[in-house]
Amino acid sequence: MTVNLLDFDLEGLTAYCEQLGEKRFRAVQLFRWIHQKGASRFDEMTDLAKSLREKLPSVCTITGLPVLSRQDSADGTIKWLFDVGDGNAVETVFIPEDDRGTLCISSQAGCAVGCRFCSTGHQGFSRNLTTGEILAQLWHAEHFLRKHLNTTERVITNVVMMGMGEPLQNYGALVPALRAMLDDHGYGLSRRRLTVSTSGVVPMMDRLAKECPVALAVSLHAPNDALRDMLVPINRKYPIAELLDACRRYLPAAPRDFITFEYCMLDGVNDQPEHARQLLELVKAHGGQGVPCKFNLIPFNPFPDSGLRCSPRSVVQAFGKILNDGGVVTTIRKTRGDDIDAACGQLAGDVLDRTQVARRRAAAQPIRFVHPAKENQA
Ligand code: SAH
Ligand code: SF4
Repeated sequence: MTVNLLDFDLEGLTAYCEQLGEKRFRAVQLFRWIHQKGASRFDEMTDLAKSLREKLPSVCTITGLPVLSRQDSADGTIKWLFDVGDGNAVETVFIPEDDRGTLCISSQAGCAVGCRFCSTGHQGFSRNLTTGEILAQLWHAEHFLRKHLNTTERVITNVVMMGMGEPLQNYGALVPALRAMLDDHGYGLSRRRLTVSTSGVVPMMDRLAKECPVALAVSLHAPNDALRDMLVPINRKYPIAELLDACRRYLPAAPRDFITFEYCMLDGVNDQPEHARQLLELVKAHGGQGVPCKFNLIPFNPFPDSGLRCSPRSVVQAFGKILNDGGVVTTIRKTRGDDIDAACGQLAGDVLDRTQVARRRAAAQPIRFVHPAKENQA
């Protein structure tokens, strides 16, 4: 099989070049052509030795992902649907703001965690993306946007691993992709501007802290184990206390001095004032010292057969106020790209439902509201 150079971070590309009898500086040149200039052909690489330019096409390629569709929202948000083969597709979303351009990237086709409120979770798990498939999303978006906006400057300033999939369940492919994003010869992102979002794969949070500490977002969604077990099933394996311990262990290595907790607001499920008070207790008291954090409240984006509704605006605001008044900085996420279904949890609705999870879930009991004080006894 031909080697795809998008599968390498700079270290990997250096090792590959060494196999071809080439020195490290050749790998740096190649890496810069690919990631900084968006080259996909070797004959464009004018400063490479001619002999190397001629040799490379017979042993390797620079192959992105086929674009199935691109949708442009009225608010500037752009969504791509990429074909990853066998009927699977993944989505990538660009969100422009005044002071930054954020790309939301997928790490898996589908997801095995199966969160109750997530359409990717309902589709079931198809497969892990390769490093090349993760990086191809950034490579394509960045160079498309530069052409589109007629600029040679960097357009994407922030990357969030918040598309489809659980990035920490695809750790092996994720880390080289993150390294290429951070590399000054690659995309040169700072660690603070690169965020991995996780549902709480505790052992991999510890590895990430050691091997590639970037900003961390943790999808909390519930203030107690009874409710979180139901919403985020991985909680049965790594319950809240263990998750918060892992957050505390992560912080000394992290580029920011807080963890961002994401909290999807579900009408009548996890949005009551008592839930907010439980959250405050949790993050302020945990381990005696608490967990330095911020909260990001995400209005739930409904999708067919979810059986859930978004909390009313006033409820979201009241919830945020309790957290803010309690001394925990809390923001409410703006929904973007609504007209093109680019909001969280609406991604790649067209992916084939390979595992029939959606059908099984539709037949399951709808979530009922349990008073938070009683949940831990449920
Ligand atoms: N698997 C990772 C990253 C991808 S999901 C994780 O769970 O953190 C990115 C964020 O979108 C998570 O916080 C997730 O809980 C949230 N999300 C998923 N479905 C959603 C929906 N329908 N509405 C709002 N947020 C959703
Ligand atoms: Fe997977 Fe994240 Fe969706 Fe949960 S919210 S099913 S972890 S993608």
